[in-house]
Amino acid sequence: MLHVKNIDALEKALTEWKSIGFSVGFVPTMGALHQGHLSLIERAISENDKVVCSIFINPTQFNNQDDLVSYPIQIDKDLALLRKMNCDLVFTPEIKDMYPQGNEIQQFELNGLDVLMEGAHRPGHFDGVCTIVNKLFNLIKPKNAYFGQKDFQQLAIIRQLNKTQKFKINIVGCPIIRDENGLAMSSRNMLLNKKERLIAAKIYHILTSAKAQFFTNNIENVKSFVKKELNNVSVFSTDYVEIVHAQTLQPLNDGEKKEPAVLCVAVFLGSIRLIDNILLN
Ligand code: AMP
Repeated sequence: MLHVKNIDALEKALTEWKSIGFSVGFVPTMGALHQGHLSLIERAISENDKVVCSIFINPTQFNNQDDLVSYPIQIDKDLALLRKMNCDLVFTPEIKDMYPQGNEIQQFELNGLDVLMEGAHRPGHFDGVCTIVNKLFNLIKPKNAYFGQKDFQQLAIIRQLNKTQKFKINIVGCPIIRDENGLAMSSRNMLLNKKERLIAAKIYHILTSAKAQFFTNNIENVKSFVKKELNNVSVFSTDYVEIVHAQTLQPLNDGEKKEPAVLCVAVFLGSIRLIDNILLN
């Protein structure tokens, strides 16, 4: 596996591969890799001649400095995992490589996809995400790029960015990988102790109970049920609960239950913010 730390070396490897006609799959990450990330790498390996994984903790997408400072880092372990997976290249740029003029943030037309949920509760988050993904897509120009449905809104926004910027990359959405107890895997879970992880798994159980009543209850009641169940867990503090159209991400009403629907939540467990979602139909 090539470990490339700057843009010149990345471009050299990509030029060589593309001149031979190899297809390139790309998996962007912020490191502290877990099975969720590795499932994306595995899929990319099965569908491309060469796979590039980036590890970069993107400062411009953090609206909360404490979250940025405490974000887990385990680069040696990540490199070993990627090597074991037979990833072809890992790109670990420094901030100055990705933001040579300082932390400039670009704004993109996102068709209203960023109005609710993470967009509303983490101001500027998606501008930061799109800024870095736009830079990485421009550098790597992959055939396929892989994103997890764990970050459901992010995936929809990346699809939109791909259209707006006319990248013509095939954006592949991959299923959420969960711990055995249902907790959606996340790098931030590393900041939870064993007991907290057990409690955090309740989020998924509440989502599955909500899904079971989607067609027999009205949407406001389903949302109230989720809020009540989350509030019953004393260490949780609910950030949002939304039921939205899975493509437009606009709030769904009771007459639209045949449209693709997704229930999305964000919950604080102490200072750790967890997000999860479930498709409802
Ligand atoms: P991150 O390192 O958190 O920026 O995540 C990098 C990519 O991995 C994103 O596309 C995430 O949606 C995806 N990802 C993170 N956790 C999971 C998971 N539990 N299952 C599937 N994909 C995931």
